[in-house]
Amino acid sequence: MCRLCDSTQPDLPCPTRRDILTTTAAGGAALLANVLLTGGAAAQQTALSTLPEGVGAPGRRTLIKGGIVLSVDDAVGNFPVGDVLIENGRILEVAASIDAPDAAVIDATGKIVMPGFIDTHHHQFETALRSQLAHGILINDGRAVNATNYYDTVLQKFSMVYRPRDVYINELFGGIAQLDAGVTTVMDVSQIHHSPEHSDAAIEGLRDAGRRGVFGYFEGWGEGARYPDDARRIREQYFASDDQLTTMVMGGEIYLPGYEKAWEIGRELGLPIALHVVGTFGM
Ligand SMILES: [Zn+2]
Repeated sequence: MCRLCDSTQPDLPCPTRRDILTTTAAGGAALLANVLLTGGAAAQQTALSTLPEGVGAPGRRTLIKGGIVLSVDDAVGNFPVGDVLIENGRILEVAASIDAPDAAVIDATGKIVMPGFIDTHHHQFETALRSQLAHGILINDGRAVNATNYYDTVLQKFSMVYRPRDVYINELFGGIAQLDAGVTTVMDVSQIHHSPEHSDAAIEGLRDAGRRGVFGYFEGWGEGARYPDDARRIREQYFASDDQLTTMVMGGEIYLPGYEKAWEIGRELGLPIALHVVGTFGM
């Protein structure tokens, strides 16, 4: 459930999908009453009603039973018919048959059970612009036919009028849409940091989708931009632990003047550094 579902209080922090699932399983009606009575309530309720009984309940193990298990792990192997036992969000056992009478059961008969896909490069803040520039090339190469191009149109025109709220919507929708397609992990190359508020919105949207994500802190433009220095605040405020569902990467584009500072800050904060290597830019 995202914070935008309550039109009367659009900027309230809202519980994540995980919070809702946990609360539901525990029978906590109070939170549900607060968050489900508006906008997306019906859809959320429908989604919850499809969960097998007991799945997500605190302390309760989950058994994914009878699926075609493709582990993508040589040490584990594959099973034409197999079970997967999960405890506290972690896989405990994968085998042809697992005896776990206490577990909540998901019947996977006839379905493929496998790890989620990983998207290693996504600009999630552009989700709403999807297909907007299907014929555009990357940058203006001087030819009239390419006067409308990605760099000028998407980055320098559309993205410049994004409000933090727009960033949040794009991040959240991008994350949920990908989850729906089986992509459970993303490296989000985030280039929308026109102010610290834009950064906060990007991180919160990524997090609220409830999947595993790497937040790539790249540049922004305009007077309010605080890249790369704001990385210190972001690291401390949102990514104090490296053992959490969303983690941080420092963006360090070598085509930007002063990129050395971004690299220094990334190293100071113990972050991996990511960048584009673009032939069009002569790299
Ligand atoms: Zn890119």
